[in-house]
Amino acid sequence: MLYNRGMKHYDYLIVGCGLFGATFANIALQQGKKVLIIDKRNHVAGNIYTEEREKIHVHVYGAHIFHTSFERVWKYVNQFATFNNFINNVIADYKGERYHLPFNMNTFHELWGVNTEEEAKAVIAKQIKEANIKEITNLEEQAISLVGTDVYQKLIKGYTEKQWGRDCKELPSFIIKRLPLRFTYDNNYFNDKYQGIPIGGYTKMVEKMIEGADVLLNTKYQDFIKDNPHVADKIIYTGPIDEYFDFKLGKLEYRTVEFEVLTFDKPDYQGNAVVNYTEREIPYTRIIEHKYFDKHDDQLKTIISKEYPSEYSEGKEPYYPVNNERNSTLVQGYQELAKNEKNVFFKGRLGEYKYYDMDDVILSALEFADEELKA
Ligand code: UDP
Repeated sequence: MLYNRGMKHYDYLIVGCGLFGATFANIALQQGKKVLIIDKRNHVAGNIYTEEREKIHVHVYGAHIFHTSFERVWKYVNQFATFNNFINNVIADYKGERYHLPFNMNTFHELWGVNTEEEAKAVIAKQIKEANIKEITNLEEQAISLVGTDVYQKLIKGYTEKQWGRDCKELPSFIIKRLPLRFTYDNNYFNDKYQGIPIGGYTKMVEKMIEGADVLLNTKYQDFIKDNPHVADKIIYTGPIDEYFDFKLGKLEYRTVEFEVLTFDKPDYQGNAVVNYTEREIPYTRIIEHKYFDKHDDQLKTIISKEYPSEYSEGKEPYYPVNNERNSTLVQGYQELAKNEKNVFFKGRLGEYKYYDMDDVILSALEFADEELKA
């Protein structure tokens, strides 16, 4: 990778080297465009950044498990990395009781001792009937209407309220639909056709994608553009849209996650990559044990991260957009302002204020590149 301080002129300035920025950069470079990427952090790869410690690839900004059903995206990422065969099987801990996630026959057997689909469905149907929900207007009503009261109380309510810092009655129902519900004994957390983690870590993958671009790290857009206003014909901005406009309509809300990272002088901590703590009283939502995302035979130590969700404030990392009415209206206001910014495109999770998965963001970048770069 070339780190270049000589300010030549570029076709594209890409602000933020996460997956949107890296994907668009890659396609633009393939087409012979000159690309400059800037990032305020001291590394590339955004939140999928992985770092090697004790021979373990640590997911520094939380677990990132790649999964997709888009053939185009799977083919695309496989150009830059070989993916391992990791399948995410998540364990939930509720006050010391252990359950399998996502909600499947193993979970229902552990909860109620039922063995068949019919038995499980009968228990759930009874609970749904008793809850007497007339109309689904929020996450609580959505969750109970899908899986009944027991699953909601033990496996959803506490976790969700910790993660979002809001009552389940104030959250949109779509969030819970991310989780599969199935009546087979299948513990795969995702329904997608393809799943895995790049061997060698995500950072290497992103470095490959942006080969040929000039990259400036530790560089804040606002400062940089003041000094170099004519650096590129076009700008792909993947930072927070409200920050671009100096918060002039108000601040968008985000949830953030803080990590307590611990190293142990023993080969195993919890025997699984992800354990969710679904009760309200434990302040973290989950513990990830990084070695289990990867080949893990020859490390004598292990590294874990406890994830503590909290409200975003300046100086922290904005992770999840908070989808409520206030923020939807506010983001529309910013999108109106964005229309007047000639040759600036607001993209990715922070630029669009959208809860994107990795594959969605890559697809979005590929499709944007199809349009933007068509001859
Ligand atoms: N969720 C839950 N219990 C769990 C795990 C997830 O209720 O043990 C809910 C929670 O509302 C969360 C949503 O499912 O916000 C989506 O979870 P996912 O694992 O997809 O979240 P991410 O990995 O994006 O943080």
